[in-house]
Amino acid sequence: MKKYALVEIGKPLEELDFPEPVPTGTQVLVRIRRSGVCHSDLHIADGYFDMGEGNKMELAGRMQLPMALGHEILGEVISAGPDAVDAPIGKTMLVHPWIGCGDCAACEEGRENDCLDMNALGIRRDGGYATHVLVDHPKFLVDIDGLDLDNVTHLACSGVTVYNALRKALPLLESEWLCVMGAGGLGLNAVAIAKAMGVSNIVSVDMDTDALSAARDMGVSEIINAAETPDVIRALRKLTNNQLLAVVDTVGNEITSRNSVEALLKMGRYIVVGLHGGTFKMPLPMLPQKALTVRGSFVGSCKDLRELIELVRKGNVKSIPVTTRPLDQADATLQDLRDGKITGRVVLSTDV
Ligand SMILES: [Zn+2]
Ligand SMILES: [Zn+2]
Repeated sequence: MKKYALVEIGKPLEELDFPEPVPTGTQVLVRIRRSGVCHSDLHIADGYFDMGEGNKMELAGRMQLPMALGHEILGEVISAGPDAVDAPIGKTMLVHPWIGCGDCAACEEGRENDCLDMNALGIRRDGGYATHVLVDHPKFLVDIDGLDLDNVTHLACSGVTVYNALRKALPLLESEWLCVMGAGGLGLNAVAIAKAMGVSNIVSVDMDTDALSAARDMGVSEIINAAETPDVIRALRKLTNNQLLAVVDTVGNEITSRNSVEALLKMGRYIVVGLHGGTFKMPLPMLPQKALTVRGSFVGSCKDLRELIELVRKGNVKSIPVTTRPLDQADATLQDLRDGKITGRVVLSTDV
């Protein structure tokens, strides 16, 4: 098998050859067909998250290097361990990568994304930038029969992350507004899924003209180019007729957080999923005075992913722009993502 692996933090990925792994216990071996390239892979390759004010959360020691990055994984199940009952051998399935310790209360309730000791694929151990991956149990495989492979891969991270966040942000009345901060892979999926969940008034905020035009194509009612708007808070209030009740922040930096809490109406809900980094500051009296809810949301559960796939099957979720590239473009794609050259999602494929 081949891996496009992070060998040393901060260095380009390397192409490495390994013997094909043999699944044991409940494991299944998946021959990877698609692998999405997510913005958080940049943080993992850099080896830290920016905690603000010069502080970093170092990731070294939490990862098993060399490690194939990539957590949006789709492929054919080709073999299974002796205890992997009902493994769907020969079927192409979407992998739920957010695997927990398997032992805690969250894991036992199927909320592995809330586990304190997650062991996610492509985050702490080998993931999708490879020809093969071992998955712990067939229960982490999601049936995507009949759906377009290129358009379904990114649902395993970017899709399920915003689906979970939107469930915390909604419901909204017909006159109320949702703001989606950022129009990258997460932001565009947030728009598509929010619309499928029945939200009609959506404003998208970004600094990139191409990203905002993609958001327009996804059907947002209004856009704000933050690079050209001197007062984003005032613009948000005006465009939403002062009816902004929910923000899903797919960027998560000091500016987007400040703009969100300032522009939200009383009883507003601010849900952060973006990992851009920095510190969150707001005037404390604003929390009680506006009775704000400030919440984080981290990826989603396998149940969330199955629900999202069902929503997609109903045909109401518009696909974000997806570009397919060969698997050996993994490192070049990360570089393009870093340079802001990608609109929507790049999906690496072993079928081209
Ligand atoms: Zn991701
Ligand atoms: Zn756990």
